[in-house]
Amino acid sequence: MGTLLAKGIAVFFAGLLGGQVLYGFAKAPSFLLRPPGAQGEEDFLARCIGCGKCIEACPYVAVRSAPFAVGPAAGTPVIDAREQACRLCEGFPCVGACPTGALRDVGVRTDVRMGTAVIDEELCIAIDGGIRCEVCYRSCPLINRAIDIELRPRAGDSTHVLFAPVIDEEQCVGCGLCVERCVVGDPAPAIRIGPPQNAPPPAPQSAPESAPQSVPEGAPQHASEKKGT
Ligand code: SF4
Ligand code: SF4
Ligand code: SF4
Repeated sequence: MGTLLAKGIAVFFAGLLGGQVLYGFAKAPSFLLRPPGAQGEEDFLARCIGCGKCIEACPYVAVRSAPFAVGPAAGTPVIDAREQACRLCEGFPCVGACPTGALRDVGVRTDVRMGTAVIDEELCIAIDGGIRCEVCYRSCPLINRAIDIELRPRAGDSTHVLFAPVIDEEQCVGCGLCVERCVVGDPAPAIRIGPPQNAPPPAPQSAPESAPQSVPEGAPQHASEKKGT
């Protein structure tokens, strides 16, 4: 019995540590990207019971259980945008599955306030390297709203311009698709998701029905079908 208990505990901790390695948190990040419908970290932590229903409901395997490295928030649902960003599914299955209202008040994509994208201009090859990249721009589900391309003059070059991505903080919902796709990775992606900088949605809406939503076409059904695995 004692051996079985010890084995169970070992498996539990190995699973959490495995999640830590898999999901890229070597140490506690300053900002945790929560699924759509979280209403600020304090509200979210007060309501989330760590049941994992949102994790089970996510057809893209974007939502995972936070590892020990995040401290007291371990076991709560997080998204590592670089690993697998949120697809802003129609109907928001993650929100519909949440039994406590920790995820709520999201009807359409523009209601989402997960975070705000931030571009590191020193790492961006379009801004610092002069290459017409536009990968983040073309990845964005709110293209030309949350992110746009700004033509900027090049230093010492009166003929050519820079095609610089710029974020509209009011429009960006923090889904992280731009982070997932950024072609720069060393020492870090040139774009990251920070805390939301935009205003709350205009009027609260009731949470969607809790009935499971249909799985979007092309969505992986299991972690092993996730991209790159
Ligand atoms: S909106 Fe879709 S992809 Fe994003 S966390 Fe919810 S279920 Fe997952
Ligand atoms: S479904 Fe709701 S309560 Fe359960 S883990 Fe997800 S956010 Fe927390
Ligand atoms: S996080 Fe990136 S991809 Fe998502 S809305 Fe903002 S700019 Fe667009």
